[in-house]
Amino acid sequence: MKITDMKCALIGDNPVVRIITDEGLDGYGQAESSKPYLKPHVLYYRDKILDKDPTDVERVMSAIRRYGSFKPWGSSVSAIEMALWDIAGKAAGVPVYKLLGGKIRDRVRVYLTGGPLPIQGSNPEDFAAHVSRILDMEEKFTITKQGIAFHSPMPHVVPNYTYSDPSGPTWESRGPMTERGLKHTIACVAAMKEVLGDAMGLALDCGPGMMVPDAIRLARALEPYNIMWLEDMITGDYTPFVLADLYRQVTESTTTPIHTGEQIYLRQHFKDLFEKQAVNVIGPDPADVGGIAELKWIAEYADLHGILMAPHGVINGLFGLAAHIQVAATLPRNYIALEYPQAPDWWYGIVDGLPDPIVVDGHVAIWDTPGLGINFIEEEARKHLSEEDATFFD
Ligand SMILES: [Mg+2]
Repeated sequence: MKITDMKCALIGDNPVVRIITDEGLDGYGQAESSKPYLKPHVLYYRDKILDKDPTDVERVMSAIRRYGSFKPWGSSVSAIEMALWDIAGKAAGVPVYKLLGGKIRDRVRVYLTGGPLPIQGSNPEDFAAHVSRILDMEEKFTITKQGIAFHSPMPHVVPNYTYSDPSGPTWESRGPMTERGLKHTIACVAAMKEVLGDAMGLALDCGPGMMVPDAIRLARALEPYNIMWLEDMITGDYTPFVLADLYRQVTESTTTPIHTGEQIYLRQHFKDLFEKQAVNVIGPDPADVGGIAELKWIAEYADLHGILMAPHGVINGLFGLAAHIQVAATLPRNYIALEYPQAPDWWYGIVDGLPDPIVVDGHVAIWDTPGLGINFIEEEARKHLSEEDATFFD
C-alpha cells in the first residue's frame, strides 16, 4: 500500500488531516481547535510521506518526527500519526488498540474540564456554584479539573493578586503571588471541596506562571483537600521548555500530586521529569506529543518510575477523542483518566461510530470497529467545508 495524497481541511476550527492510499483506504487525524492556522504546516509534510506504506507507521514517522516541536508545532506530526494508525487498523481489519498491544480495559475513565456552563466569576461562591452544576451532569464524571491562579482570570480581577503587573493577555501572566492572592486561591478551592466532598475528584490547572516558593506554599496549603493533581504551576501550555529541576523542588516539598506535560513534544523531553522524579503525574496530549504510539511509550516509561498518567486533550475534537480512547485502552495501571474533549453540537452530527451516549458513569466504552473506528458522514460533513477545502473528501 502507498500513500498517494494527504489533505488538510478546517472543519469548524479543528484542522483535520486525511491521508489517502492507492488501495482505497483513507485515514483521519485531528488537531486542537485552537490551531486553525495549522493547515500549511500539516501540508508541509505531504511530500515527505508520499509513496510510503502507511501501515509501516514508524517508518513514515521517522521521516517527519524531527520536523516537529513543542506545542503548537508537534500537532501536525501528531495528527498525521493518528491518520496512519487509522489506515493501519482498517488495513488489518482491527481496532487500533490491537496494534498498540491490545486493550487491558473495556472502558476508559475520562475527566471533565470546565463544566456545563462557563464559570460566572472568580470568587469562592462562583466556584462552588460552578462545580455543583457538574455534580448534576448526566455523564456522571468522576473527576473534574478547574482553572485557578494563573490558569484563570484571578491575577487580573482579584485586586493585588500578584506583585507583578498583570497587564497583557490572561494566559501570559506570571509572577510572585501576594498573601492575599494565595489566600483567595485557597478559599476558592475550599469552596469547591465543600460542595464536592469525596463524591468527585478535583484537579486544578494552576498556571503556568507561578514561582517555586508560591507553588510550594499552595501545594502544602491544599494538602488537607486531597486534590488529584496541581497542573502546570511553573511551565506548561505554550512554554517551549520543561524546567524539571524546578518541578522537583515543588514535588519534594508536598504530598499534593504535581502534574505537567501537555505542551511537551516527544519522549525525550519527559526523560528529566521521570529520572529526576520531578512530578507525580504527567499529561501529554496525543495531538501534541507526537501521536498515540508516542503517548503509549511515555506511559510505560512513566509507570517504571511510579509516575501517573492524566493525558490532556480538551479541544482535540471527536477524531482526537477516538485516537485517545484507542491508546488509553492499552495504557498500564498508572492511568488515571484522559481529558474529555468538548466539541460544538453540530460535530456530533457529522461523525458516526461513537457510542451513544458517549460518556456513561464517567467512562467511555471501547468500540471494536477497525482503525480509529469512527468515520465522517460525508454528506453532512461537506456542509462545513469552506470553498478552499471543497475537495477534501474527493
Ligand atoms: Mg492544562
